[in-house]
Amino acid sequence: MENAQQHIETLAVHAGYTHDLPSGDVTPPIHLSTTFARQPDGTLGDYVYTRTHNPNRQAVEQKLAALEGAALALAFSSGMAAIKAVLETVLAPGDHIVLPDDCYHGTRALVSELLSRWGITWSLADMSDPAQVAAVLRPDTRLVWMETPSNPLLKVTDLTAIVALCRPRQMITVCDSTFATPLLQRPLDLGVDVVIHAATKFFGGHSDLLGGVLMTRQAERFGPGLMAAQRTGGAVLSPFDSWLLYRSLATFPLRFRAQCATAEVVAAYLATHPAIERVYYPGLPDHPGHEIASRQMQGGYGSILSVLVRGGQEAAMQFCGRLRVFRHATSLGGVESLVEHRRSVEGAYPISPDHLIRISIGLEHPEDLLEDLRVALG
Ligand SMILES: *Cc1c(COP(=O)(O)O)cnc(C)c1O
Repeated sequence: MENAQQHIETLAVHAGYTHDLPSGDVTPPIHLSTTFARQPDGTLGDYVYTRTHNPNRQAVEQKLAALEGAALALAFSSGMAAIKAVLETVLAPGDHIVLPDDCYHGTRALVSELLSRWGITWSLADMSDPAQVAAVLRPDTRLVWMETPSNPLLKVTDLTAIVALCRPRQMITVCDSTFATPLLQRPLDLGVDVVIHAATKFFGGHSDLLGGVLMTRQAERFGPGLMAAQRTGGAVLSPFDSWLLYRSLATFPLRFRAQCATAEVVAAYLATHPAIERVYYPGLPDHPGHEIASRQMQGGYGSILSVLVRGGQEAAMQFCGRLRVFRHATSLGGVESLVEHRRSVEGAYPISPDHLIRISIGLEHPEDLLEDLRVALG
């Protein structure tokens, strides 16, 4: 069924499912069994135990690999589990790594609270400026972590420029591509070693599953270590969540395209609204990363934007409270539009100004969203 020449919409529907069940199921059944019988002579079948192999997880991993153009995809029980798996696989005690200065707060907490106990050290850099990244590289730097566009400041990293810095120094590059997805951005094509996604966000798309995925083209180099981190580490995507994710991915390209188109309309509206001090959206021509984003991302700039509300934190919270279509909740990438006061959930590593509201655009009609914003901004 799979064909590298097929378009992403077709792969999103068909990749990963072999249609070889005697019942002729057109959509995959859910294999909840944790254990699988051996042959009469005692030989092991294709499946033995669900932590190591499960038909639903295998199907969704193959679909994810097809979408990203990867040789290997591994699905985890959350985005954070995927992030932890790649870091614990490629790092050795004493290694130094570079993180974006506005890194997803969970990644930052993982490194500073868990990995620091194993002697991992880190530097922060503004990834939108390759010179600042070059300035913090050290002989013992093993890995450079990128996240573009970033959460929640929507900073854009020039992946090609950072890969050009790291490759000659044998440093591993990882990109958290959650905000862009393979519909808009293909880090593996640009030479990035490993891509991670919080599948919880756009891939799942309905705010009803938690999952993460690691993908690479270098299956021989990274495969054994990453598979051990997944299967022996044990934080695997469950059969039901694998099935849900497989199903959600079928509509992902269409959903995300529509969400991006609406986000552009909302960003343009808010950029001229007197109650808004600033809009962070890479699609706006005055965004500092607009030029790189236009080159690096195809077909849109994503469906996440952040705004600074005039009047400080209280005004920002009141704005959220007056919205009727948008809900005030964390997370992003679902069919429902959400707003969030970021600073209050960033824990020990706050990076957002206290009047910043992050906006995740869903699938509602753009006019209804604009009307909701108009009323709430007063
Ligand atoms: C949500 C998110 C994560 C973490 O994913 P979980 O599924 O919540 O563990 C990592 N990176 C980015 C950019 C995210 O938005």
